[in-house]
Amino acid sequence: MRSDTVVVDLFCELAAIPSPPGRERAVADRVARFLAELGVTVDEDDAGGRVGAAAGNLYARIPAVAPGEPLLFCAHLDTVPAVAPIEPELVDGAIRNRAPAILGADDKAAVAVMLEAVRRVLAEQRPHAGIELLFTPKEEVGLLGAYAFDHTRLHARMGFVYDQAAPIGTVIVGAPFRRELEVELHGTAAHAGMHARDGRSAIAAAADAIARMRLGQVDELTTANVGTIDGGTAINVVPERCAFTAEVRSHEPERLVRVLGEMRCAIEVAAADAQCRADLRERKSYDGYRFGERDRPVALAARALERCGFGVSYALSGGAADANAFNERGLQVVNLANGMIDIHTPDERIAVRDLEAMVDVTLALVDEALAR
Ligand SMILES: [Zn+2]
Repeated sequence: MRSDTVVVDLFCELAAIPSPPGRERAVADRVARFLAELGVTVDEDDAGGRVGAAAGNLYARIPAVAPGEPLLFCAHLDTVPAVAPIEPELVDGAIRNRAPAILGADDKAAVAVMLEAVRRVLAEQRPHAGIELLFTPKEEVGLLGAYAFDHTRLHARMGFVYDQAAPIGTVIVGAPFRRELEVELHGTAAHAGMHARDGRSAIAAAADAIARMRLGQVDELTTANVGTIDGGTAINVVPERCAFTAEVRSHEPERLVRVLGEMRCAIEVAAADAQCRADLRERKSYDGYRFGERDRPVALAARALERCGFGVSYALSGGAADANAFNERGLQVVNLANGMIDIHTPDERIAVRDLEAMVDVTLALVDEALAR
């Protein structure tokens, strides 16, 4: 599909290149070529090898030509897997996939917008205080590219990701902390009919443990979920093993710790009652963050959005983005909603108007970062 704006054509071209987590090579090459054609040097780090991705982080820095605050713009190159080819088409002013699968606006809409904004800055010789671009692999499976990037290379102390499916104007001022639990219960196998008394059912222990947990929306800021369960070998065998995975997210680290503690307790009590043994492994997925409306990148975003005619609202996200990885390391990176709709579904789409508007928002951010 061809349109009359660079950002729409570029977005459609990038979206059509499949890039499930770990297989970002082709799209990374296209992005690198776009930047090379602008005369921008692109560096690819060694994160690919370390996180099991076909491409590393693509990093480019355009040195300042005016005083002010350098800005980082970051977007991820991977998408959730597409179950069909991606053939972008324009329907009623929005781009969607002709085939029944994701479009990959998450996050190629951001990639295209950031690239086009940089092209405009250079072509129009707009003053700017330094722009850094970072395009990451394997965001969808745990922010792996962003975590593997050496953030000490960055000149910018603040930046933006566009990775929230909400109307433009929504500024994400907080994202949750998240931890995962891998649980394995070990009982005793026995013939279910002839030696039932000798059996210790790991499935019964797991069921009891899960039944004791507070799951779902635990409180306003906290959620918990048991997402997978697997156990047993045959209908006539008392199951020796049952494993499940659980996650907890909270915007408040203390509540996260409390709910995780309750889960551990539920597992231990249930295992003891069933005379089973419980193995627990806890893993940090990412840390959360919380900004105030007066924090510099939030205030800068508000000025830029207002200048582009958008009403500004502040929201918390229930999920993470690459911003989490950078905020954890002391940078201030804010996630701006970019108009994506129904991401991770076959109805995923984005309005042409929103793609174009985010280019203007990016240019306004660059302008607002100039010293005044
Ligand atoms: Zn995303």
